[in-house]
Amino acid sequence: MKRSKKSKKQPNLIFITGGTVSGIGKGISVASLAALLKMRGLEVVPIKIDPYLNRDAGTMNPYQHGEVFVTEDGAETDLDLGHYERFININLDGRSNFTTGSVYEHVIGLERHGDYLGKTIQIIPHVTDEIKRRIVSVFHSNGADVAVVEIGGTVGDIEAEPFLEAARQMFREHGPNRVIFIHVVKVDYVFPSDEEKTKPIQQSVALLRQRGIQPDFLIVRSKRPIDLENIEKISLFTNVPPKHVIPAVDVSTIYEVPVNFRRSGFDELILKKFGRRFGKSNFAVWRRAVSKMTRAKKVVPIALVGKYIEHDDAYLSVEEAVAHAAAASGVKVDLLRIDSESPVLLKKLREMKGIIVPGGFGKRGIDGKIRAIRFARENNIPFLGLCLGLQVAVIEFARNVCHLGGANSTEFNRRTPHPVIDIMPEQKKVKDKGGTMRLGTYKATLAKNSLARRLYGTPLIFERHRHRYEVNPKYHSILRRRGLVLSGLNLPDRRLVEFIELPEAKFFIATQAHPEFKSRFLKPHPLFLGLVRASLM
Ligand code: GLN
Repeated sequence: MKRSKKSKKQPNLIFITGGTVSGIGKGISVASLAALLKMRGLEVVPIKIDPYLNRDAGTMNPYQHGEVFVTEDGAETDLDLGHYERFININLDGRSNFTTGSVYEHVIGLERHGDYLGKTIQIIPHVTDEIKRRIVSVFHSNGADVAVVEIGGTVGDIEAEPFLEAARQMFREHGPNRVIFIHVVKVDYVFPSDEEKTKPIQQSVALLRQRGIQPDFLIVRSKRPIDLENIEKISLFTNVPPKHVIPAVDVSTIYEVPVNFRRSGFDELILKKFGRRFGKSNFAVWRRAVSKMTRAKKVVPIALVGKYIEHDDAYLSVEEAVAHAAAASGVKVDLLRIDSESPVLLKKLREMKGIIVPGGFGKRGIDGKIRAIRFARENNIPFLGLCLGLQVAVIEFARNVCHLGGANSTEFNRRTPHPVIDIMPEQKKVKDKGGTMRLGTYKATLAKNSLARRLYGTPLIFERHRHRYEVNPKYHSILRRRGLVLSGLNLPDRRLVEFIELPEAKFFIATQAHPEFKSRFLKPHPLFLGLVRASLM
């Protein structure tokens, strides 16, 4: 076989696995380490592997799984991609997140197509080959120096086995200078003495070893600083050198995690392991932003009126976007998740300096959101509506200002006399639920002299979307006549309303998009900055 002139660069890979418990913070660990490596001048691409069978996160209920994060190219992904983008300040695409379901679907597709020429299709090598192919292809297509691959779940989960096996094979193929394993674990505390125990860590590393993987580093979560004696003990039982046992004590904000990693020299140790030379890190900007965030004293209460409020991660990107804007404004926002079905909704809102109504689906909770928006409008409380938040603001305005009795979205009442929000024509024929909404980035134009234009500082913007319904064009003129400014329209056809606002209000703006997906720790989003600043006035 003829060799290609320039053989492709071999991948540098970091695999991050989790042990002892689920939800241990692998996502933040990946995001923090990747951010540090980027500050050393490396091109880093993160990948999240989800061992579940869903093809993607798009059909998953926020109650169970938290928010669905949307990338520029319209992939509906795991919320960890949000952390990656916010920390590393990059735009990822859908290839950075894949599931067992999508891998099997692909392999079975090839089998049906006859590509395997009659062979028996097996997990090893066919499924593991597809996993490896995907990882290498993301590495190459992003021109990366290193790919950081997070394997979801906890070591020992049946569903994750093929991914661990693929990682083991990649170590065998590329060698210890190209493949690094990091295992995230936690110290246990027994009651009633609250004494530290490291046994679960030892056992979790033993599980990993059974799969042929020896971790090079451990990230050890703990609620108190870990003493040297325990570090030595962990090292002894796990074969990980003490210097490679990276402590990760609880912090007040996730953005502090890179600061602690830096203190342990984690990024330098990784680069050494890859045999790379490294220059100075430009970490100062991050460090300053974190200390501004942690030093902020003034607290501003803002309400997040939603219905998925029990799940900590259901509105994750919105909460982070608010935190970024607050940090940049030198204040702390106490973002109170308020159930839109709460009987004391308005009483709670009276104490708030701002109100956000985020995205959502289905009829439940809509009446409360309408009441919340009416309250914001009538009491001149800064208001930001996101996606469904825009749609409900239009319903509220139609009912209470335009006097269109019973105005509604056809999502909530198909027979409404005034369908001010209606399904987009191209959505009418769609039957499947997965990946079929208006998804990903779209261009919009912002009206001169509008609040939107002032906030963004430019007439042309791109934001990410995830919806099926829109402001019904038949009602544009009556809404306008009654004072609602349709301040942003989609391009090129200017049919879809992307922004609405009330010019008389202190701050009343809503968008059909999800701007929260584009806010970054070091680059807060203008709409959230606008809301936080207005709530200080
Ligand atoms: N349910 C609404 C729609 O499909 C809003 C969606 C959302 O908020 N993401 O249009």
